[in-house]
Amino acid sequence: MKQVYLDYQSAKPVDPRVVEGMFPYFNEKYGNPSALHSIGDEGTEALEESRGKIAQFINADEDEIIFTSGATEAINMGIIGYALRNQKKGNHIIISEVEHISIHNIAKHLERSGFEVSRVPVDQYGQVNIRKLEQRITDKTILISVGYASNEIGTIQPIREIGKLAEDRGIAFHSDAVAAEGLIPIDVKRDGVHLMALSSNDLYGPKGVGVLYMRKKYRINPIIIGGGQEQGLRSGSEDVPGIVGMKIAAEIMRKEMPKEVKRFAAYRDRMIKHILQEVPDSHLNGHPTERLASNTHVRFDGVEGESILLSFKDRGIAISTGSACTSKTLEPSHTLIATGLVHEEAHGSLQITTGRFNTDLDIDSVLEAVPEIIARLRRLSPIYKPK
Ligand code: PMP
Repeated sequence: MKQVYLDYQSAKPVDPRVVEGMFPYFNEKYGNPSALHSIGDEGTEALEESRGKIAQFINADEDEIIFTSGATEAINMGIIGYALRNQKKGNHIIISEVEHISIHNIAKHLERSGFEVSRVPVDQYGQVNIRKLEQRITDKTILISVGYASNEIGTIQPIREIGKLAEDRGIAFHSDAVAAEGLIPIDVKRDGVHLMALSSNDLYGPKGVGVLYMRKKYRINPIIIGGGQEQGLRSGSEDVPGIVGMKIAAEIMRKEMPKEVKRFAAYRDRMIKHILQEVPDSHLNGHPTERLASNTHVRFDGVEGESILLSFKDRGIAISTGSACTSKTLEPSHTLIATGLVHEEAHGSLQITTGRFNTDLDIDSVLEAVPEIIARLRRLSPIYKPK
């Protein structure tokens, strides 16, 4: 059976052009950038060229790019590293309720270490309210962390407004850009972001590579100590093939994103319209307009997301009920709960995320399957009562 993949938010295949460009760096140009001989120089050249190209992708300067082993590491460095460096100025941090699980867990970790964390609520669409954010600022606040967009419901945050508020109040602004990269343009200067995490895979590069963007004057304490690579902030030999992969992925994305995003938005709008029309008692999660082009997130009264997912699996269609990073817990999504849904509503949700290698036929197969699957599950459901 041909598999249809519609879970691009959880993982993306590496673009074949990226794989090809990475090859020489495994066994021909394998030098360690820290070595001073000419084989090492090849590594240094590749590393520094990649740093420059990735900096361009987000309108940063080269020396503001620190390579990491992925977004989780970059987020840890950005938030914990900044908090530790600035704890004499204050011990208060603000995050939103719809952050990625890594940020919620870092916040708990910092609370256990004596920091105070405020969690700003969001509206029914998952957007942070600037006024509520402002109300939480105290003279102890050193850092605000709000992601560019939700990796679950796809809601885009008012990043520039948050950036401006942080700038005006002299507070550092960290943003997890993983869900948004490659889907909305990122310009750290225009957006007013001081610290930011990126992952390579979300640009169709290899997994296990990422970047911390760190604006000059927003220094962090290192949390990985060793030989002093990456300005002494992330020690350990750089993964040159992976970093070259991320560079090629960013270059392709820069050229192809505008066209690609239009195609995804058409898929999304078609899916949302069709599902809400064809399936009674179905609802859209997230923002109706301020949402990522790749994200369709819907819920159905009286059915359970897991059973929908398994029915799709039987038809060879891979979709999701929420974040892959929390799929092993039985807890409902913290993001959906933050938008005001009750547990049963959150459990009846379905997340479809499209990407580079989808075609119209993939969308057709979902649209054909959804009404049938939901009707069958509702016939079996003891709790479904048509409204
Ligand atoms: N933030 C968001 C929004 C994510 O979706 C993910 C997972 N892809 C991460 C952070 C963590 O990224 P990584 O797996 O590269 O550590």
